[in-house]
Amino acid sequence: MTRPAPAALPAVSPAPLPEPLADAEQRLPIDTDGPLVRAIDAILPQTQCGQCGFGGCLPYARALAAERAPINRCPPGGDAGVAALAGLLGRPVIALDPACGTPRPLHAARIDEARCIGCTLCIEACPVDAIVGTSKAMHTVIAAECTGCDLCLPPCPMDCIEMVPVQPSQPWTRADAEQARLRLQHRERRRVQARADQDLRLAAKARHKLEELRREAARLEALRQEQAAGGTPPFGQARDGEARDDEPPPDPAQQELARRRIIVERALERVRQRRAHDGA
Ligand code: SF4
Ligand code: SF4
Ligand code: SF4
Repeated sequence: MTRPAPAALPAVSPAPLPEPLADAEQRLPIDTDGPLVRAIDAILPQTQCGQCGFGGCLPYARALAAERAPINRCPPGGDAGVAALAGLLGRPVIALDPACGTPRPLHAARIDEARCIGCTLCIEACPVDAIVGTSKAMHTVIAAECTGCDLCLPPCPMDCIEMVPVQPSQPWTRADAEQARLRLQHRERRRVQARADQDLRLAAKARHKLEELRREAARLEALRQEQAAGGTPPFGQARDGEARDDEPPPDPAQQELARRRIIVERALERVRQRRAHDGA
C-alpha cells in the first residue's frame, strides 16, 4: 500500500534561540494555550532538547497546533511519537526528519569532577535542575533526574561533561516525561520570579538615583540664580541687558545631569514595560 503524500506545510521557521529568560517564559503554559496545544504537549517527551528547532517541547507543540511545523521533528519521541502526533492531528505518518537528529537510547550526563571548575554554567543550562553544585565547587549530575538533553554540554568551558548510556538500558516513559515537565515548570517559574524580584530592586534603585539627580539639578539652578542676582549675567544676556547674538554656551553640569536623568528614566521605562509584559 502506498503511503499518502504528506500534506504540504509551510516551511519550518523555528524561533531564533531566545535569551535565557525569554526562553523561560515561552516554556511555561500561557492562557492562550488551548486543549490542542496541551494534548500535543502531552505526547512530546519533555526533554526540552531543542532538536526540533524550537525552544522546547511546548513551543514546538504551539507550532504544531498552528500548523507551522511538520510532525517529524522530535528525535527523542521517535517513530512512536510521530505516529501519536499523526493520530492526534489527523496527518499522515511520515519518517523522522534526519536533519533534526536520530533517536538514541536514554543517556545521562556525567561530570568529570576532577576537571570541573565550578563555574555553574551547566546548572544554568539544565532545564530540569538535574545538576547540583555551587560556585567554585565541583558539580554533580543527579542521574535519575537527567533527561539526556545534552544542553549542559555546549556551555561547559572545561569540556568535562560527557553523555553516557543509562545502564541497564531503559526507555523514556510517560511518567519520566511528566516528572520532567513538573521540574521544568518549577524551575522556569522560579526564574521568572527571580527576574521580577530583580526588576523591583532595579526600579527602586533607579527611582533613588532620579531623586538624587533632581536634587542636584535644583541645587545647580539655585546657584545659577544666585550668580545672576549677584551681577553675573545669566546665559544669553550681556551685562548691559541686551540679548547676545551668539548662542550661550550650554551649562555642562546641567547637561550631564539631563543626560544621566534620561538614562535612568529609560531604565525605569524598560522595567515598567517588562513588568507589564509579565503581567506583574
Ligand atoms: S523532546 Fe522533542 S519536542 Fe521536546 S524539545 Fe526535544 S525535539 Fe523538541
Ligand atoms: S544534566 Fe545535562 S543532559 Fe541532563 S538534563 Fe540537565 S542539561 Fe540535560
Ligand atoms: S559547566 Fe563544566 S566546569 Fe562549569 S560547573 Fe559545569 S561541569 Fe563544572
